[in-house]
Amino acid sequence: MYRTHNCGELRIQDVSKSVVLSGWIQRSRDLGGMTFIDLRDRYGITQLVFNMDANASLCNEARKLGREYVVQVEGTVTERSNKNPKMPTGDIEIIVEKLTVLNASLTPPFTIENETDGGEEIRMKYRYLDLRREPLKNNLLLRHRMAFEVRNYFNMNQFIEIETPVLIKSTPEGARDFVVPSRVNPGQFYALPQSPQTFKQLLMIAGYDRYVQIVKCFRDEDLRADRQPEFTQIDCEMSFVHQQDILDMFEGMVKHLFKTVKNIEFSEPFPRMTYDEAMEQYGTDKPDIRFGMPITEITSIAKGKGFGVIDSAAYTGGICVHGCSEYSRKQLDELTEYVKRPQIGAKGLLYVKYGTDGSLKSSVDKFYQPDELKKWADAIKAQPGDLLLIMAGEKISTLKALGELRLEMGNRLNLRPKDVFKPLWVLDFPLLEWDEEAKRYFAMHHPFTSPKTDDIELLDTQPGKVRANAYDMVINGTEVGGGSIRIHNEDLQKKMFSLLGFTDEEAQRQFGFLMHAFRYGAPPHGGIAFGFDRLVAIFAGEDSIRDVIAFPKNNAARDVMIDTPSEITAEQLKELSIKIDIR
Ligand code: ASP
Repeated sequence: MYRTHNCGELRIQDVSKSVVLSGWIQRSRDLGGMTFIDLRDRYGITQLVFNMDANASLCNEARKLGREYVVQVEGTVTERSNKNPKMPTGDIEIIVEKLTVLNASLTPPFTIENETDGGEEIRMKYRYLDLRREPLKNNLLLRHRMAFEVRNYFNMNQFIEIETPVLIKSTPEGARDFVVPSRVNPGQFYALPQSPQTFKQLLMIAGYDRYVQIVKCFRDEDLRADRQPEFTQIDCEMSFVHQQDILDMFEGMVKHLFKTVKNIEFSEPFPRMTYDEAMEQYGTDKPDIRFGMPITEITSIAKGKGFGVIDSAAYTGGICVHGCSEYSRKQLDELTEYVKRPQIGAKGLLYVKYGTDGSLKSSVDKFYQPDELKKWADAIKAQPGDLLLIMAGEKISTLKALGELRLEMGNRLNLRPKDVFKPLWVLDFPLLEWDEEAKRYFAMHHPFTSPKTDDIELLDTQPGKVRANAYDMVINGTEVGGGSIRIHNEDLQKKMFSLLGFTDEEAQRQFGFLMHAFRYGAPPHGGIAFGFDRLVAIFAGEDSIRDVIAFPKNNAARDVMIDTPSEITAEQLKELSIKIDIR
């Protein structure tokens, strides 16, 4: 038997038991007469003791063991004289009687400690060593727990998990497809699913009215902190539902996760906000509502005083930063630089300092008297002691820039704590988005999303105004899930494809199977998919989803541990009828 117990379970009640433990050597301290070793496994750490007086040869053997050696020990549990209250096993230690080295280890390239000395690159290369560290281990345990509770919730609600294929035909979710050549069909390719969207809709047509799948999806996009080429969704679909039924069911899932995994209870329904409200008040469709500081429009009260920037702008608005009227020149310059960054792209930033003495000083004093500035302050609900930050320009880009500035101020003022969770629903997204470059509409969610019944008439006259039956769940400024009520009627689906610029033939070639299936009794249906990695990262308090994925890719979409993507042999290429032509 390799072990009678694991390294995290022995307690004071076990004193005087004979035990066998196996694990890795975390640390060894040689104090001359005594050698102490911390033995680690997934469950914890137990202290081993070797005593020179009691058994000199065993003690000498122990002194030779290096970090990360795998050993087995037999010994007796004893009470420690020097207890460590920080460790669950800190009351006891094992007086070792027999030691077996199960395997030696090279010296690891970085320390296996919570705060390691290893840089990102080296830790990715030796991911199996990085995964021995407590923070990553805890993240993977959390991930497991969450997946388990997700399945538990859906099982209780009559959902069934059904697997869908990985080698499919492209589904348009807005990203590029990864493709796989078919050897037996030369010149033809499968696509890896960006999501199982069309399959889950076909399952509804097949009558499986509550479907769920924890599933890998693949999108060939440029990487960011919260993106990976392959990622995991909790993919769901239901039949005979209105939007309200969907929101209730999936809000229920998120509440169940918070309750069972974090012991946080949300007794109230999650707030619901329309897309327009989110944009107007937070400058984004994924507002972080852990703090206030909403955006307020002051276009009409600010116009007409001879200040060109505002007079020529379609929109002027601002935020009120409480208690910051004493901001220095330097701090304000920093904020101006911040909003001028290319990612944000604002031309500049105006400010009004509303002093605690009631005075109003601004960067536009030449054009605006204090009584004018007071009107701004009142509109933005500022109090003496507050700082107003104002921007003017084209409406949407100004709102977005103000939204970024709001988040930055939230960071600076520590208003975004990681252990506070504020979920909400964002509803009524536009159905279509105009792309100036391509000169055509794109589906804001995806082409299978239904328009709101009230707006169907506008499809012919003002497609840009049509609202979708679509919803996103947002937590702390991150979109964690999104979905929609679907089109389930062939004619409407055809119309949607034509609005998106597909010819009838193209629509038929790509999605004929789905539109044809609509002719065989398609029930009304809708669904949602949650980004599982993001959800776990938020629960774990991590900024990057990489820290909650066992084997992630790096920023260049490479797995540096297994060294891929990599070339394939001439033989393989030939079999696939593929010639490489890198220019
Ligand atoms: N398939 C969609 C996505 O991956 C989610 C949905 O509409 O259910 O974003």
